[in-house]
Amino acid sequence: MEIIINGEKRGADNVIEVINPFTQRVIDTVPNASEEDLRDAVDSAHRAFMKWKVESADTRAAFLMNWFQVIQIHKEELAELMTMEQGKPLKEALGEITYANSYISWFAEEAKRIYGQTIPASSPGKRIFVQKQPVGVVAAITPWNFPAAMITRKVAPAIAAGCSVVIKPAEETPLTALRLVELAHEAGAPAGLINIVTGDAERIGDTLLGDERVRKLSFTGSTEVGKLLMKKSADTMKRISLELGGQAPFIVLSDADLDKAVAGAIASKFRNAGQTCICSNRFYVHHSIAESFTSKLKEAVAELRVGDGLDQETDIGPLIDEGAYDKVKRHIDNAVENGASLVVGGVVDDTSQGYFVEPTILSGAEDDMLCMTEETFGPVLPIATFEDEEEAIARANDTPFGLSAYLFTQDISKAVRLSEQLEYGIIGLNDGAPSAAQAPFGGMKESGMGREGGPQGIEEYLETKYLSLGL
Ligand code: ADP
Repeated sequence: MEIIINGEKRGADNVIEVINPFTQRVIDTVPNASEEDLRDAVDSAHRAFMKWKVESADTRAAFLMNWFQVIQIHKEELAELMTMEQGKPLKEALGEITYANSYISWFAEEAKRIYGQTIPASSPGKRIFVQKQPVGVVAAITPWNFPAAMITRKVAPAIAAGCSVVIKPAEETPLTALRLVELAHEAGAPAGLINIVTGDAERIGDTLLGDERVRKLSFTGSTEVGKLLMKKSADTMKRISLELGGQAPFIVLSDADLDKAVAGAIASKFRNAGQTCICSNRFYVHHSIAESFTSKLKEAVAELRVGDGLDQETDIGPLIDEGAYDKVKRHIDNAVENGASLVVGGVVDDTSQGYFVEPTILSGAEDDMLCMTEETFGPVLPIATFEDEEEAIARANDTPFGLSAYLFTQDISKAVRLSEQLEYGIIGLNDGAPSAAQAPFGGMKESGMGREGGPQGIEEYLETKYLSLGL
């Protein structure tokens, strides 16, 4: 496929291959954008911004609703493309397209609710007015695990706010992103409003971040790269939103509804083969119910089918690549070597048909094992036990990360008290799938800053201007 700059497609001689993680064959190529491409992308985004920022909220909303409709028409095709480049099961890919599109319709509506303020002045001869204005050209850099949702979660609020964008999707999954931008143009996107470039990540990052006309960076990816991009944004003082790694604890109290906890564990752990930033990573289960929780979980896991994402029966596709597989293998081996028991699962040794890991449960996990200290990003569920609740919360908080945490209990007072103590931006309380377009998604501590979705999501793309009027 080709990149899109100023509403026009551009190819290149220098290309990057896109590989299907199931067949491990090249399915397409995308351009390695040149310096000229990158300069043109920012030029055209800047020109489009100067026009778009003065358009009415109704015009912005109408374009977003058109884009939403066009995506609806093409959702099967988009889902198939996503499964081919990313590996997730088709039913999950379809779910992601619906989820991704819900950000577009939500922000189409929010475009009309960018409210200012009037504040009583201390002097009778003055009036204070507060206005919101779009921040400017936005650079959106996205990861491979949600090839559609990570794009719309950034682009929809940016466009609703009156900004223009230059997108750099992950090198592993650029095709869904390119197709979404093609569809935006079918839906009537003005030239230059939504540009998309692919290629060498560092060069693209440096060019976009070095340009003072780019006023905002919205990044989703690893904490390591997030920190680097934050530093690189400092010279031109860009606004930044960073959605970075997680290390989610999943706590099950002794009074929890075990069936609900098991369903929550399956939803939060095995979606996208465990490759989501809010995936539960480490389980803390009260010692009195650990055995029954583990055996119910084992039964539920036995239902999950590993295989080709395009097969309707598949629940868990291949991991994205060899590096991901090696990391998961290292985590399982390290746990077993240090005394954990493999209840079920393990890596699939034959990697000739993709890098597969069976859904895996480890019992007897300890806090210093790799699977408890690092983000595994695979379908591995390590269970540790605890004696009292304060201890469980302290262990859950003992990490530099703070994206999401899960708590299962039927006691409402404990639920409120303990969730207030959890140092996480997102709490799934008796809920294994908390993401929604209406809700502010984002992390604390080294999981990043800023929020995506909800009324908060559009604020990230708005400047506050105060006008002091002397009468
Ligand atoms: P992941 O581990 O999920 O691949 P990364 O942080 O490596 O996370 O990648 C997320 C996104 O950041 C991808 O689009 C990737 O190409 C991009 N990226 C990685 N390194 C850089 C960099 N130095 N500058 C700009 N973008 C980068």
